[in-house]
Parts: sequence; C-alpha cells; structure tokens
Amino acid sequence: MKLLLLPGDGIGPEIAAGVERVLEALSRRHQLDIDLVRRPVGLEALAADGVTVSEATFAEAAGADGVILGPVSTADYPPPAEGGLNPSAEFRRRFDLYANIRPSRTRSGVPALASSMDLVIVRENTEGFYADRTMHQGSGEFMPTPDLALAIRKITRQGSERIGRAAAGLAAGRRRKLTIVTKSNVLKMSDGLFRNAVQSAARDEADVEIEEVLVDAMASLLVREPERFDVIVTSNMFGDILSNEAAELAGGLGVAGSLNAGDACAIAQAAHGSAPDLAGRGQANPSALVLSTAMLIGWLAQRDGDEGAMAAAHALERAVDSALGAPGGRTVDLGGSASTAEAAEAIARALDAAPVGVA
Ligand code: ATP
Repeated sequence: MKLLLLPGDGIGPEIAAGVERVLEALSRRHQLDIDLVRRPVGLEALAADGVTVSEATFAEAAGADGVILGPVSTADYPPPAEGGLNPSAEFRRRFDLYANIRPSRTRSGVPALASSMDLVIVRENTEGFYADRTMHQGSGEFMPTPDLALAIRKITRQGSERIGRAAAGLAAGRRRKLTIVTKSNVLKMSDGLFRNAVQSAARDEADVEIEEVLVDAMASLLVREPERFDVIVTSNMFGDILSNEAAELAGGLGVAGSLNAGDACAIAQAAHGSAPDLAGRGQANPSALVLSTAMLIGWLAQRDGDEGAMAAAHALERAVDSALGAPGGRTVDLGGSASTAEAAEAIARALDAAPVGVA
C-alpha cells in the first residue's frame, strides 16, 4: 500500500512525524507493507520549488493508494500566480473529493463538553458558498461597487444526490439514522433542492430513517442532545461550522479526524488547521491526523475488499482510544503533558500490545 505523506505547515511536520512512527508500527504489526513516501507541500515546497504544491506531487498522489495531507497555512501564501496554491482546495478539486467525512465521538479519558456522542458529519465539499470552487471561471464572490459585495451559493441536484448517497451508505453501516441539515425555510429553492435530492438518493438505502433539521436548531441540538444523532449530511459551509462545533463537544480539534473522499480516491486530512501558536513546540496532538489516517486505510480497505487492511484500520482507531485513555498518551490540549512524539509513541505501543486480526 503506497501512501503519500504531505506534512504541510505550522504543526504539520511534527504531527506528520507522529503519523510516520504510528504507521511504521501498524505496517509491521499488521503486515500491511505500507510504502510511505514523504514530499513537501506548503511553505517548504514554495521555498524549494516556487509553488506550494507541484505538478510532480499531484502526479505522485494520483499514482498512490492514498494521501495524508497535513494542515496548510494558506493565509501566509502569496497569490496563486506567484505559486501560492491552496493544496487542500486543489486536491479536492482535482480529485473530485466531494465528501468530507468528519466523525465526532466521546472517548474514555478525553475531557469533553458532551457526556456521550458518536456521530459523523458528512459535508458536501465541492459546492455551497466556497467562492474559490463554485465557478467555471472567475470567483463566486465579487464586488460590483466598493460598497456592495455578493457571494453566490451553488447547489446542484447531482452534487446533492451523490453526497446523499455517501451519507446514507454510511448510515446503513451504523445506527441507520440520517439527519439532513438545511435552512430550507428561508433558502427555499437551493436548500429545498438539496433536501429533496438527498432524500431521493437516501431512499435507495433500505431501513435508514431520514429527518430534516434546520441549521439553527441543529446548532442548539448538538449541544443539548448530541447522542440523538448518527449521520448528519449538509451543504459545505453549514458542515464546516457544525463539524467544528461537534469536534469541540467531543474533546476538541486535537482528536478530530477527517477524510475527504471521492468515488475513486480519498485523502486523510485532520479537521484542524496549522495551529501557528503551537508550531515548533512539540506539543501538538497527533491524534487527529492519526485518526484521519485510520479512516483512509478503512476507506481503501472497503473499496478494495481488503479484510486485513480493515482490521488494521479498526486496530489503529482502538490504539488511539487506548493511548488517550492513559495519562501518558494525552497532550496538553487534553489536559495531559505528553509531547507530540510521546503521544505517537503511546499509540504505536498500544498497537504492539493489541491482538491482530480482529476487525
Ligand atoms: P484554520 O483557519 O486553518 O482552520 P485556525 O487558526 O482557525 O486555522 P486551527 O489551526 O485549527 O485554527 O487551531 C485553532 C486552535 O486549536 C489552535 O490555535 C490550537 O491551539 C488548537 N489546535 C488545533 N489543532 C491542534 C492539535 N492538533 N493539537 C493541539 N491543539 C490544536
């Protein structure tokens, strides 16, 4: 299994080193034969190649089984014409990664605002309000006069149906409940189209209960009764906001794994950013990127019908739980004192200690 590791900016190189350590243990223990290739993206690549992500890196990604992308500090990049491409947006666009899958669940030993939750937010990743990816040419955000700014929100039937299918398929393998989040009482046409398209795609999954909740109510319900939800599907910006809320409720961004998936390939990418306040200190939590990597391996295993890789993905998720359950595995954001390297080491040791072959 060839995996391309792109560390990125800020805390990226530190947490990527943690992922490398963990994957070395996983590959050995589960005989996955992982070939991990590391390439620069972001400011390191800009300094070396004049561009934050080179064509050679995209080509290498296309030839790999999967990609692990660290956080990127796009606000510090020059304009695209001067090499400052947004690697995250470019990968999503080029590889048509239309589903951003963000699980949030409470874990033993991880201090959390919610007492119990286990949900997945499935966020449409290619449309909505994101001005840089909604147009064939030009930007979806523009200023006709200095005192008037407009942003266009794009919702298509095809885009809504495919995210609906992905979310319903996920719900079918979990607790069989799908919540569609919209603002269809106000955005009657666009969110009406989103809801109807998701509903019709989701009806193909037998026995999945479907409900619609308005986004403002959802912001409250996530706080009040998060245990009520299983899979939540929503448009791009609502998903961005609600998934950060859910991540905070479940223990914070340091444990918020995330996968960007299309039909043919997927990219592991933690939900958090490059956390410049922590960069270079060795204190960042590697768990979010490790959990994202577990999601990637599980996604590849499902695509390829590879039971061994599926067992390894589950083992990795359990190893993170086990490491976080002991004080020595918790970083500062979780009230512990472990360094990034120590937290990764605790996950690697948990992998070594656990039985192999249990999916
Ligand atoms: P972006 O705009 O790229 O999402 P941001 O600055 O808004 O970035 P993050 O970089 O995600 O937000 O981080 C917000 C804060 O959360 C950080 O400043 C940091 O304190 C904390 N944080 C994020 N990721 C981690 C992590 N892996 N480990 C520990 N703390 C983290």
